[in-house]
Amino acid sequence: MRRGRLIVVSGPSGAGKSTLIRQALEAVPELAYSVSATTRGPREGEVDGRDYIFLSREEFERWIEEEKFLEWAEYSGNLYGTPEAKVEEFLDEGRSVILEIELQGARNVRRKRPDAVMVFVRAPSLEETRKRLQGRATEDLEALELRMTTAVGEVAAADEFDREVVNGDRKQAREDMIRTMREIIGGN
Ligand code: 5GP
Repeated sequence: MRRGRLIVVSGPSGAGKSTLIRQALEAVPELAYSVSATTRGPREGEVDGRDYIFLSREEFERWIEEEKFLEWAEYSGNLYGTPEAKVEEFLDEGRSVILEIELQGARNVRRKRPDAVMVFVRAPSLEETRKRLQGRATEDLEALELRMTTAVGEVAAADEFDREVVNGDRKQAREDMIRTMREIIGGN
């Protein structure tokens, strides 16, 4: 069986990555999602094992020592990492796997797995990014500013990626994302 593709989806916080990924997963059955581990606390509605594997810092550090991560990074004061075993399992089954990760992690995956396809998702403007982050209202002001500063740096990284999806018009972005995933899986 042909192995699946490793697909990294990255881009500034507030760009709408999660929604577009969910829509792509619903529309394209060959896709699988890699559930990350994090030391961040669960947000309302988030389920352990589905949205993230929620770990204490000690547990996360143990996983690092045990080399369980394909990549990991610190972001806004928390640790995030991609457990490697599950990713390999999906790829062996011929399914393509989406990693939704921030920029440092994306760079690490590209270095380790040059055959990974890198997809950048961004909002049409930074103003729009701020609005979306404020609308989410899960962060206090300081955390929001930190995410905004990080987002400014992240937009500049777009040209390190193979593909770009601009999340302006929701319907258009959904179609672009789904088409991009189908092209990647099909080998275009
Ligand atoms: P949030 O706290 O908003 O869920 O995620 C913060 C950032 O961490 C997002 O940019 C998200 O893509 C990224 N992230 C989530 N999981 C991972 C992971 O496993 N590795 C890395 N490097 N970043 C991740």
